Amino acid sequence: MKVTFLGTGTMGAPMARNAASAGLEVTAWNRNREKAAALADDGVRVADDPVSAATDAEIVVTMLSDGTAVEDLLSTEGLLDAMRGTLWAQMSTVGVAASENFARLALEHEVGYIDSPVIGTKQPAEAGELIVLAAGAPEAKERVGVLFDAVGKETRGIADEPGPASKLKVVVNTWLVGLVEGLAESIALAEGLGLDPGDFLSAIEGGPLGPPYAQLKGKAMIERSFDPSFALRLAAKDAGLSVE
Ligand code: NAP
Repeated sequence: MKVTFLGTGTMGAPMARNAASAGLEVTAWNRNREKAAALADDGVRVADDPVSAATDAEIVVTMLSDGTAVEDLLSTEGLLDAMRGTLWAQMSTVGVAASENFARLALEHEVGYIDSPVIGTKQPAEAGELIVLAAGAPEAKERVGVLFDAVGKETRGIADEPGPASKLKVVVNTWLVGLVEGLAESIALAEGLGLDPGDFLSAIEGGPLGPPYAQLKGKAMIERSFDPSFALRLAAKDAGLSVE
């Protein structure tokens, strides 16, 4: 199976690496070429431009920052024509309107569109343990299953037409952003009251109020370890998608 990744940032790079390790024939392109070139040692072919990357692919994955980035990419002359007859797994978080727009464009260009955002961050992406939310025609979902199995631990079939997976992803990230915000405020309050904020994490650990994510991110906040797995600008983008 020939798979092309367009976008090899925090998420796209480990996903491309895992697809290559699973025996798929992987080509990668990234706007900043260095990020794609870093995958060459993992058996990934590095392309100079998106059109040559997509030519001859069976599956094209987009994993870019947001809907505007995907739109910019699609406006590259010849790209949608090069994608004709392929399956396009749109795995970036783009929200409802952009996802609908991409489904329409795909139909016009005879591209099979699978609306397939993911749950899980940098470490699960590296471990091949993402959860893929898949919405699209059943035969397309089945054909792309080999890729989803390579990058994820589970694929949830959300619908037999594109759209609902991107809707669900916006809902999930609304929960995520609220969780991180509440966690940060609680830790700040504990510190402000002169408590050890670790005592707050211990108090909720193991009970219904203490999700594992609170322990993971709460410890990082207390240690002031802010190396991002999911950049704040992307979380802000997702909050904007909820508002939209
Ligand atoms: P990232 O590290 O910031 O990577 C963004 C990618 O988009 C880079 O390859 C970047 O290229 C590319 N890009 C941005 N604007 C572009 C444009 N106009 N034209 C072409 N390429 C463009 O982001 P990420 O963390 O991998 O996230 C990718 C997507 O997955 C986002 O939609 C995000 O919301 C979603 N997501 C992220 C996580 C997470 O925890 N990180 C989890 C689930 C879903 P350059 O390298 O050239 O800048």
